[in-house]
Amino acid sequence: MRWQRSDKADRNFRDARTGGRARGGRAGGGGGRGGAAVGAGGLGIIGLILALLFGGNIFGGAGATAPGSALDSVGGATAPATSSGALADESAEWFNFLLSDVQDFWVDKFAESNIRYEPATLTLFDTPIRTGCGSAQAAIGPHYCPLDKGIYLETGFFDAILARRFGATGDFAQAYVVAHEFGHHVQNELGISTWVRQQQQQFPRDRNEYSIRLELQADCLAGVWAAYAEQRGLLDRTDIPEALEAAAAVGDDRIQQSSGQRVDPHSWTHGSSTQRQEWFERGFSTFDTESCDTFVGI
Ligand SMILES: [Zn+2]
Repeated sequence: MRWQRSDKADRNFRDARTGGRARGGRAGGGGGRGGAAVGAGGLGIIGLILALLFGGNIFGGAGATAPGSALDSVGGATAPATSSGALADESAEWFNFLLSDVQDFWVDKFAESNIRYEPATLTLFDTPIRTGCGSAQAAIGPHYCPLDKGIYLETGFFDAILARRFGATGDFAQAYVVAHEFGHHVQNELGISTWVRQQQQQFPRDRNEYSIRLELQADCLAGVWAAYAEQRGLLDRTDIPEALEAAAAVGDDRIQQSSGQRVDPHSWTHGSSTQRQEWFERGFSTFDTESCDTFVGI
């Protein structure tokens, strides 16, 4: 990915890694937004289905992510206090860039639809930390905590799990993960996560199905952001293949296979490799959030 370097931390970026002293940032700056206004639907169907279901009183309120799983079990943290606006290293610069870029996209999208948006924070960590959802262990995968609107990334995950165990490498594999977690934030801001949780309580037998559709929607929303990056000329040729490989790597069937378990669709909570690729691809190719209604027909 052709990303813009900046040594200034976004105000929502937190670096809680102990390997390189805790840092964080203020500094609103953090790389401008790429100029060109982007059209692409509004929040259309996502807002629409919920407006139908809730008669308009749908936005806001704390949501919840889907039941835990390898890629984004719920964790949470009271993110550590931040200090200076400096970024510790290239890794911090990279994730700081992703935070700003993905968030700017959604800020604009929500503004177009006149929907209130509260920003997400992104925290890098390498040892257990407290979050709004409890304690996040180092071994936990990337996840989003709806209670403090925080995305938590354990930096070792990308090397240890994604690359070594699942063979998904490249910077855009990481971008896909961040954009997917932002998808959960968008769902939280729109009240979709809360709605899904209610449905799961009401229809316990469909619990996993709702979880899968929530996850696939986050993949689709990640694809929509990827299209925005593409439109601004930020993508290399390898980027979309990297994202697709990462999406496949975290499919439930692939995870079950690689851990020697029987492949059992009834136990899935995130969707198969193929489904995850398809929904990312759909968001990317349509560049339209309205194409991300994964709840049709449930
Ligand atoms: Zn997820």
